[in-house]
Amino acid sequence: MFNKKPNADYIKSRLHPVDFYRHELPDAPLKKPGWNPGGLCVFHGDNKPGSFFVNVSTGAFKCFSCGMAGGDIVAFVMSLYGLEFIEALAKLADDWGLT
Ligand SMILES: [Zn+2]
Repeated sequence: MFNKKPNADYIKSRLHPVDFYRHELPDAPLKKPGWNPGGLCVFHGDNKPGSFFVNVSTGAFKCFSCGMAGGDIVAFVMSLYGLEFIEALAKLADDWGLT
């Protein structure tokens, strides 16, 4: 009965953080493994790059200006769109065709 339930491990195995963040942050120079500058923070009214970072290896993100942070791309989607965990998985699955 839960066959359609989005699975976090499946989604994370099919969607690499670097691909996700290159799509979400098209202006950010995501060039190296690990932490990279993420450009303007998407969580607050940012007007100057420098405080927002994303880890393209793990999916973690952190803003040193507004304090928004999380450990993976699911947390990013939850925070950005105000979704519950399971809703964020469903959005990722839908957006990236991982059903
Ligand atoms: Zn911020």
